[in-house]
Amino acid sequence: MSKLVKFFKSFLLLELLKGMSVTGRYFFARHITVEYPEEKTPQGFRFRGLHAQRRYANGEERCIACKLCEAVCPALAIKIEVAEREDGSRRTSLYDIDLTKCIFCGFCEESCPVDAIVETRVFEYHGENRGDLYYTKSMLLANGDKHEAQIARDRLADAQYR
Ligand code: SF4
Ligand code: SF4
Repeated sequence: MSKLVKFFKSFLLLELLKGMSVTGRYFFARHITVEYPEEKTPQGFRFRGLHAQRRYANGEERCIACKLCEAVCPALAIKIEVAEREDGSRRTSLYDIDLTKCIFCGFCEESCPVDAIVETRVFEYHGENRGDLYYTKSMLLANGDKHEAQIARDRLADAQYR
């Protein structure tokens, strides 16, 4: 391109006008960004967020301490210790998930034979220290208690979809 053409292009601010035309076109186009946190994107019933441990309707914890979830976890994020109750049933005496290791693959919930460990739709949580994301059994059960209604709806939708 000759120097003369370049000079006139720059003198007439053609590149600037071209840029402004792109800005103008997108200014009036339909917006596809979401104004989080006021707006939220839809979630699927298989969304894999914060973990929870579920109970049966009578309050009994579902987990039977089979350790399948611990064995299948590729990130070695789950730690379980088992104890036998007086009635002879197996239960966990310790069930921890280190969410700083977790890669939210969902293998734990897929492997659980009694639907005890699940991943909820909750994604708005954080930790300011490393230990804050170390979820103990009581924390996981509290998550389950809090979100059971939504968890049950999602599991039902999942079962109908399969
Ligand atoms: S979601 Fe995957 S990585 Fe996280 S605890 Fe479960 S099995 Fe482990
Ligand atoms: S959460 Fe499920 S898979 Fe994991 S130990 Fe308990 S019963 Fe077994």
